[in-house]
Amino acid sequence: MSNEPRHFDLIAIGGGSGGLSVAERAARYGARCAVVESRRLGGTCVNVGCVPKKVMWYGASLAHALKDAPGYGFSVGETAFDWAELKAKRDAYVSGINGWYVTYLDDSDVALIRGQAHLVDARTIEVDGVRYTANHIVLATGGEPVIPEIEGADLGITSDGFFELEHLPDRVAVIGSGYIAVELAGLLNALGTEVSLYLRGEHVLRRFDSLLREHLTEAMLDAGVSVFPRARIESLQRDDDGRLSLHCVDGRISGGFETVLWAVGRHPAVAGLGLEALGVIQDEEGHVVVDAYQNTNVAGVYAIGDITGRVELTPVAIAAGRRLGDRLFGGQPERRLDYENIATVVFTHPPIGTVGLTEDEAREVHGDAVKVYQTSFTSMYYAMTDHAVKTAMKLVTVGAREKVIGCHIIGPGADEMLQGFAVAIRMGATKHDLDDTVAIHPTSAEELVTMR
Ligand code: FAD
Ligand code: NDP
Repeated sequence: MSNEPRHFDLIAIGGGSGGLSVAERAARYGARCAVVESRRLGGTCVNVGCVPKKVMWYGASLAHALKDAPGYGFSVGETAFDWAELKAKRDAYVSGINGWYVTYLDDSDVALIRGQAHLVDARTIEVDGVRYTANHIVLATGGEPVIPEIEGADLGITSDGFFELEHLPDRVAVIGSGYIAVELAGLLNALGTEVSLYLRGEHVLRRFDSLLREHLTEAMLDAGVSVFPRARIESLQRDDDGRLSLHCVDGRISGGFETVLWAVGRHPAVAGLGLEALGVIQDEEGHVVVDAYQNTNVAGVYAIGDITGRVELTPVAIAAGRRLGDRLFGGQPERRLDYENIATVVFTHPPIGTVGLTEDEAREVHGDAVKVYQTSFTSMYYAMTDHAVKTAMKLVTVGAREKVIGCHIIGPGADEMLQGFAVAIRMGATKHDLDDTVAIHPTSAEELVTMR
């Protein structure tokens, strides 16, 4: 340890999507960089987020496909699903990525410091009693799942615990209505769990366009997920039969669950980081407040990714990190991330792809200048199958030129459909531009360029 460098141009605290990206980009410009990581490299996305979730989503999609197969003349017969086998393969895949990142840092000439870091001052951090200094310190510690402070809350698991499950639970209560709640509810349901989804409000995905919310709810109900709106949970209890029950504020009790899964949001991982002593400004939820250039209020200290609470997505953390590297070491003083029009996919069954303003948001900003195009149909795939899943699409436009300011899709393939449209919208595409593009037939995506 004593021969290792203790001074760097840049230190990133957190070896997740954001921290790895800022250090790698800065190192490309010749900066001496280090990443500090207390757990496994890759952060939330690789270990307990996007990557293992997408593996499970693929598995769940196969379960749906198996049900559809007879419609195409296949005799599928008896099928069985081995959760433990999939988990073992998934864990091995994730471990491989962890190892790949060690090589990646090495190849990028970025030092890896293992351990929990805290700030000593604006130029100094401490890890396991060893001090390191840097001209620039980037806070990229991400977030952690919230467990509400109610009686018995610890009887439930979070998304972190979901990825540790050793077998497929038979009955699960999912509490929440955001990304994680609907994604995990959907894939558990597809794999054979009886799922009940408890929302404290009226709808799932409250901040999404109403078309998406409505179609997703319909699809979940159709697939057999039980949805309970206006359910405020007061306590969790382990009953005599060893099963878990939920007790609602209004007196309702639901029991018999093998697992209760909290999916009620995430909070920033700031505990013990030393932000208060340094006077780093945080919002009321603890997120580090940054300006448009990822600067905190303390000179030389920056923050990127989930710790800032701004669009908590992996590509956002990566993009913010790379742009910060470009700005600090690449001679691009104005380089920063534009947080507008960031596309996102919710990996439900069927998936959702959405970018830009919802219809409600657009009407609030632009009033009567908004014109909306919308369609709902059943993809040709289901012409041969017993059951069908609907696709729905909405384009939100503004002004006489009908500039597209929102695109919302739910249906099979929406996840892969959206990226190209996100480019078009970012470039200022109008409805006429979409109409003037020759369709690809027969696809679902062609509806986006033929809508009336
Ligand atoms: P993180 O990736 O969380 O990395 C932070 C790292 O800092 C962690 O490795 C942590 O161990 C480390 N750390 C924390 N404190 C310290 C300390 N004091 N010292 C040293 N190290 C420390 N996003 C998508 O775009 N697509 C998806 O499909 C998607 N699915 C998701 C599914 C789930 C279940 C979850 C939970 C998230 C998902 N996300 C998805 C969100 C995505 O994972 C995050 O937005 C992203 O990982 C944020 O990156 P980050 O660098 O800010 O933080
Ligand atoms: P979200 O912010 O998406 O949703 C949290 C939900 O929890 C809200 O809908 C809120 O419902 C509900 N909630 C909050 N407190 C309570 C409570 N006490 N009881 C019941 N419900 C409550 O957070 P997630 O944890 O699902 O995901 C965190 C972030 O991670 C996401 O915002 C997203 O950025 C990212 N992510 C991205 C994914 C992707 O890209 N596919 C997948 C998973 C996560 P309401 O306010 O409506 O009542």
